Amino acid sequence: MTGPRNVAVLGATGSIGRSTLDVIARHPHRFRAFALTAHSRSDELFELCVAHRPALAVLADEAQARVLRGRVAASGLPTEVLAGAQGLIAAAEHPEVACVMAAIVGAAGLAPTLAAARAGKKLLLANKEALVMAGPIFMAAVRTSGATLLPIDSEHNAIFQCLPERARGGVAGCGVRKIVLTGSGGPFRTRPLAGLAHVTPAEACAHPTWSMGRKISVDSATMMNKALEIIEAHWLFGAPASAIEILVHPQSVVHSMVEYADGSVIAQLGNPDMRTPIAQALAYPDRVDAGVASLDLARLAALTFEAPDFDRFRALALAYDVLAAGGTAPAIFNAANEVAVGAFLAGELAFPRITEVIEATLERVGADAVGRLEDVIEADARARSAAGVALGRAIVRTA
Ligand code: NDP
Repeated sequence: MTGPRNVAVLGATGSIGRSTLDVIARHPHRFRAFALTAHSRSDELFELCVAHRPALAVLADEAQARVLRGRVAASGLPTEVLAGAQGLIAAAEHPEVACVMAAIVGAAGLAPTLAAARAGKKLLLANKEALVMAGPIFMAAVRTSGATLLPIDSEHNAIFQCLPERARGGVAGCGVRKIVLTGSGGPFRTRPLAGLAHVTPAEACAHPTWSMGRKISVDSATMMNKALEIIEAHWLFGAPASAIEILVHPQSVVHSMVEYADGSVIAQLGNPDMRTPIAQALAYPDRVDAGVASLDLARLAALTFEAPDFDRFRALALAYDVLAAGGTAPAIFNAANEVAVGAFLAGELAFPRITEVIEATLERVGADAVGRLEDVIEADARARSAAGVALGRAIVRTA
């Protein structure tokens, strides 16, 4: 038998990163944490180096990487420490790495995630923003290199499991009527709209069913997360926007479903714990213990579903507009959201203004065709600058 598969965990100090390391640690004969990366939290990454003894650790922040290098050397750990954007890419495409968990949050993950795709790795995609921004380039890289792309988002992982193998790269001609992405509706699903102007970052991050990083938690509260997932599903499964539907399911037990031409609906269920999709993808095509408790449907007793409120969650309607516009529109959509969420988390922007900033940015920055990665990077930069202007106006109006 061969040794454990080397895994690079990009975004190791985050919510998905730590869940991934938990699953890896349960199966030392199957998986080895070979490379761990983070942005700037050197104390957290050092602790993970002590626990997992990786061959490589990377911090995007150069100064913090020097701090980490000093501590690693003083501790006698067998870990090489790299720094900066090039260090992240080196971890993603390292020849000894078989599998990459792409779990950096936001556009910052695009370059290393794409590097893993181009290097033909088994690529576990949590960083949906990378695919949303650069869908055609990303999918072309996967096809050219022969990378195995496995979705980690619980919804897309569920769809992956509900589709027959031949439909996973594209559902056309496979009898799929529609893909139904479920979403909890977040913490403000039923809160009166008038009360949303004063919600705090802590309230927005207190998701009712999932424990996640701060940015995706705010995205869940605006349902921008589901909006990004519509675009993600389009690229992952080659599904037209008209065949992708959203269904609100507050319990987060049915993770998503596929409806077929004959009327059959196949769903994937499980407790809301990201270790399930992570373990499914890490071990694929095998199944391994993820440390997740059995689903007790008798105790849950009732699962409920409702149509999404497109007026309350404007981001959902915008996602379909963005898909119709194509080209760089998804990159602009994503960048505007990152700017607005950053301002909300910093206490500078009122919660309902997040979607307003996104909409104003989409109106201001026209979408162009995507030919090269530079087109995406340029659109991202233009959108961030326009979102900054929209942000300024929104803050002045609120004051
Ligand atoms: P977290 O905020 O918890 O973690 C983010 C990770 O990315 C940290 O390791 C952070 O390092 C690193 N990071 C942040 N900025 C940079 C940067 N500029 N360069 C390099 N590394 C960076 O995020 P989550 O784990 O919640 O989410 C990660 C991704 O997974 C997102 O794309 C999210 O949409 C997706 N996802 C998350 C789910 C969840 O349950 N959390 C569910 C489904 C998808 P540091 O600690 O040093 O800041």
